[in-house]
Amino acid sequence: MSQRTRKIAPEVAAVASEALRHVEWLRDSGVVEVPRAGRPVRHRLSTATPISTATSTATTTPIYSLSDKGCGSAGLLAVRGDLGECTRCKLAGGRTRLVFGVGNPAAELMFVGEGPGADEDRQGEPFVGKAGQLLTRMIEAMGFRRADVYIANVVKCRPPQNRDPEPDEIEACEPFLEAQIAAIHPKVIVALGRFAVQTLLRDTAPISRQRGRWREYRGVRLMPTFHPAYLLRNPADKRKAWDDLQLAMKELGKALPAGR
Ligand code: URA
Repeated sequence: MSQRTRKIAPEVAAVASEALRHVEWLRDSGVVEVPRAGRPVRHRLSTATPISTATSTATTTPIYSLSDKGCGSAGLLAVRGDLGECTRCKLAGGRTRLVFGVGNPAAELMFVGEGPGADEDRQGEPFVGKAGQLLTRMIEAMGFRRADVYIANVVKCRPPQNRDPEPDEIEACEPFLEAQIAAIHPKVIVALGRFAVQTLLRDTAPISRQRGRWREYRGVRLMPTFHPAYLLRNPADKRKAWDDLQLAMKELGKALPAGR
């Protein structure tokens, strides 16, 4: 039988057609170069279609899209792509889900917490447990909806038994928080608790001394305050946290309660 007339086996035809569909999908997703094994994939960022990661060198490239939690702009999507299915530190082994962030990609107000707990790990969203419910009430008291602001953590994976994040874990994760802040460029960051404040400001003074005083993080005004989990244990300090939040409200031009 000549080369031209040879029949293609059905399983080979199925593989070829699947490969063709895959290449068409990559093209429609903005991929402009398909790597030989191990080389990075280059993309055109598109707001219309899901894209693969911009710099991952994984051979099975994870796919993220603008509709994924916390990824709603090209900048945030690129950060998510760089982070990928991260294994840069030991927290990766214990997580159910990596908790990237959530909220408005152009938020003027951003909250930074410590790291996911059990609820966040299960749901893949920051601040959804008891402390998260309190944070949502704090955000609403400030005159915002949760969807108006952006919420992220210092570490993106749950530390085992909710222990404190360790220095090497913070070091591995911090560049991604920095990149998130740069992509969002909020007017105000509210840093929640010791880890967020110490990480962003490189200041080891206790939170009780740092709260309520304006600081600056890379050109963004930063207000340190108590972590909602601390406030659940120490409700008498809610009053001080509310004072701090009102300073942020004032900075953002929000109406303050009468008498302020
Ligand atoms: N505490 C945090 O610091 N972050 C969360 O996402 C939840 C609880």
